[in-house]
Amino acid sequence: MSLDVNELIQLVVKKGTCTGCGLCVGLDESGKSSMRDTPLGPRPVIDKNHTIPELISRCCAGHEINYPLLYLNHYGKYPDSWLTGIISRVYTGFCMDEKIRRNSSSGGVLTAVLCSLLESDRIDAAIVVTQGVPEPEKASVVIVSSAADIQAASQSVYVPVSTLDILSKLDPAKRYAMTCLPEQAAALRLLQKHGHEKALSIRYILGPYTGTAIYPAAIDTFKRINGIHKSDRVVSLKWRAGEWPGYLEIITQSGKVLRSPKVYYNFLIPFFVTNASLQSMDFANEFADLAVGDAWSPEFESQGQGFSVVVSRNEAMTALLEDLQMKGVLSLKAEPVESAFSMHGHMIDFKKRGSYIRNQTRRKLGMKAPDFGYKPARIGFKRIMVEMVISTIFVLGKTPLFRLILFLLPERIIGPLFNNLRLRWKKISKKTKRQGLESYEVIISEE
Ligand SMILES: Cc1cc2nc3c(=O)[nH]c(=O)nc-3n(C[C@H](O)[C@H](O)[C@H](O)COP(=O)(O)OP(=O)(O)OC[C@H]3O[C@@H](n4cnc5c(N)ncnc54)[C@H](O)[C@@H]3O)c2cc1C
Repeated sequence: MSLDVNELIQLVVKKGTCTGCGLCVGLDESGKSSMRDTPLGPRPVIDKNHTIPELISRCCAGHEINYPLLYLNHYGKYPDSWLTGIISRVYTGFCMDEKIRRNSSSGGVLTAVLCSLLESDRIDAAIVVTQGVPEPEKASVVIVSSAADIQAASQSVYVPVSTLDILSKLDPAKRYAMTCLPEQAAALRLLQKHGHEKALSIRYILGPYTGTAIYPAAIDTFKRINGIHKSDRVVSLKWRAGEWPGYLEIITQSGKVLRSPKVYYNFLIPFFVTNASLQSMDFANEFADLAVGDAWSPEFESQGQGFSVVVSRNEAMTALLEDLQMKGVLSLKAEPVESAFSMHGHMIDFKKRGSYIRNQTRRKLGMKAPDFGYKPARIGFKRIMVEMVISTIFVLGKTPLFRLILFLLPERIIGPLFNNLRLRWKKISKKTKRQGLESYEVIISEE
């Protein structure tokens, strides 16, 4: 039985695979549909008198995005490596402007490139995600047309933010650059391929490497385990404040300042990780013109300050980066293509094999899971077992009992404890998680 489009959207939301990207709302040209905040992040409310174009069924990340087909349509070929996608050049580097670099997530490359696109009149405006709008604890997508506003949107936002609902507000006569998470970038490419005017006005897609995001309830828990009373309002929240890799910083009305190093507040992940993070098979933002991640390596980590791994996916973006390097805007060092992968093997495995196993397990249990049109050619038995351990932790972590235990443990104990356990687990599972990854091949689903 085939569903109509509105029913399909309801199903995706009801069955728990909606990523909250806002695409369905952005495709409602009447502007009557909207996104509403829920404990699981933004969810669509589709106006019942309006129908979303049928195209949504092929670019909804909670339902289906056929990556192999999109590769052929957008790049004209499949990637050599399905781990990181098609690559023009890889660099490590940072933005030379000290202020931008220090205020950013890693090296400030995304912010610097957006500012340069605007200042060189290649775009009229940038579409960015900014923490603190409409209130300090919330984050939103905004259209900005000054370098100052682009800089104000620096830093990653690790809770779900709907971005593609902005589509209906775009002016097709204008030129935009947009920052997107991986499936959002893929969905935009699909719309562009189908000649969607507003999607075509987005001339540059930039985006972060994306591992995990957490549900907004994590912020409340974090406040509570640090003894902040409910009535003490948050006046400022930054996910990557201070020296790279930075810390989660929350300042409250009463003047309390909470700071938790990034490696410590990762303890929130098993309790609050989003379903979207667990189902996505795209870590390296395979359809963004420019994908940027943290340059995790002992060499860079010992220096602090902020370093990014920078992946350009086409010649035009490479030329732009080289130009910015020449002008002293960016400091970039060309790296072998493998660098796009080598600093992130753990997370790439988490997506490329882990998500596939998790999605398959959901299907076997009669639950809905999205289809990305391909599967890993081989996954060893041990790797499946490792995934069972990880998934069990995620399932248990979200139960009221485990969240209560979390609530009772002070952060100074759970932070270092979790970090310790995480590093041990990483060490134990490393061999299995890396085994066969470099020769990762896929089987493309029959249409
Ligand atoms: C949810 C999430 C998970 C991530 N996981 C990893 C990981 O596992 N490993 C890794 O190496 N890197 C990860 N990153 C990327 C990393 O945090 C940095 O964003 C990246 O290194 C770019 O740094 P930068 O200094 O160049 O960015 P900045 O100069 O700080 O600019 C960040 C830009 O990203 C945009 N942005 C922030 N949050 C969002 C969002 N939620 N949706 C869309 N746009 C957004 C902002 O608009 C801003 O323009 C993640 C990012 C996010 C948002």
